[in-house]
Amino acid sequence: MRAVDIIAKKRDGNELTRDEIGFIIRGYTSGDVANYQMAALLMAIYLRGMTTEETLALTEAMLHSGEIVDFSELKLARVDKHSTGGVGDKTSLVIAPVVAAAGLLVPMISGRALAHTGGTLDKLESIPGFRTDLSLTEFRAILEETGAALIGQTAEIAPADKMLYALRDVTATVACRPLMAASIMSKKIAEGANGLVLDVKTGSGAFLKKEEETRELARIMMSIARGMNRECVVLITDMNQPLGRTVGNSIELIEAFETLKGRGPGDFNTLCRELSAEMLVLGGATVEVEKGRGIYDEIIRSGAGVQKMRAIIRAQGGDSRVLDDYGLLPGAAQHQNVLVSQTGYVQAIDTEAIGRASMLLGAGRARLETAIDLGVGMTVNAKIGDRVERDSALVTIHFNDAAGAEEAAETVRAAYTLGSEQVAPPRLIKDILR
Ligand code: URA
Repeated sequence: MRAVDIIAKKRDGNELTRDEIGFIIRGYTSGDVANYQMAALLMAIYLRGMTTEETLALTEAMLHSGEIVDFSELKLARVDKHSTGGVGDKTSLVIAPVVAAAGLLVPMISGRALAHTGGTLDKLESIPGFRTDLSLTEFRAILEETGAALIGQTAEIAPADKMLYALRDVTATVACRPLMAASIMSKKIAEGANGLVLDVKTGSGAFLKKEEETRELARIMMSIARGMNRECVVLITDMNQPLGRTVGNSIELIEAFETLKGRGPGDFNTLCRELSAEMLVLGGATVEVEKGRGIYDEIIRSGAGVQKMRAIIRAQGGDSRVLDDYGLLPGAAQHQNVLVSQTGYVQAIDTEAIGRASMLLGAGRARLETAIDLGVGMTVNAKIGDRVERDSALVTIHFNDAAGAEEAAETVRAAYTLGSEQVAPPRLIKDILR
């Protein structure tokens, strides 16, 4: 078998066999298939798509590129959640400590910034000393000690996704249903959770903008979960505006800390509460979602979520004083308000453009080797339905390097549609599929 023939077969719109998919994934992880060949195949898949059988074969090949963690000797239920990617989406940073504080185990393999969307790992790495590259032994030990551990794909767990994820990020091949489904499900099955809540996003800031495409992705992922004996619940959620009030890395981490302290913005707190409640039901901590919401509220009210976050940060080598002193986190030296030119109402936000503006400030990667500036980002002052007065700030951008700031400000300004009619904010949770 030769990689070049497999690329040509997909380029011409033909279905790949299980053996061909296994061959290419094994070859890529071992180094026999070059980055440029995989980049060509990814683009062919992006343009030609994959059948359900091909997507399943890809997920299995990616899953078996590393170890499948077996936590069955740990008596507690293991649950996790994963999002398909959004702007301002920092829910994992609240959910993991809350669900662990409720007594379940949360073994979480997260991602880095991908295209215009942010990544949980980058946000966590804003914490001085915090390690996301734990070995499998460390992952297990921390999970047992604190109830939650958050890591990235490693050479041991989901290595194929680690490599493909980074390559897709810089080859414009992220927004592709089979690639997204295989990426998410291979690492989620590898991490040893038995229940999974998927937050599948739709709208201008999501990879899949149309609701039918989003539902199709949800169906593919649910059928993979069923085929692999994992319980799975999907929430289809809105991504037509940034989630919460911040976009960036350390700035989003602060918003997550504030939410754990009971001071989070309404939409963000609501989504964390719903996702946590579903996880609590999946993990058997309660039988009703409404009771799960009550558990979430109590953990936030009592401070147990903050305490759990402190324990997780310490266990993963981070400086937990950041919870009390945000000045210890990376910051931005300069700030600029993006002003409103006319009084009116925010009618729509091109949320992908907001994500791109954040990348222009340095919060995301345009090339594999680009370093992220963890201190930059933006504060979103105006959301859909809000009335804004002339010369008030739609968004405040925070930056260290003036080079991208002007273009970022222009991009933000163009991302907002203002008008004289007030519109209702989009419904946050559009559907729940069980
Ligand atoms: N999150 C992932 O883990 N993978 C994707 O492809 C998209 C979002």
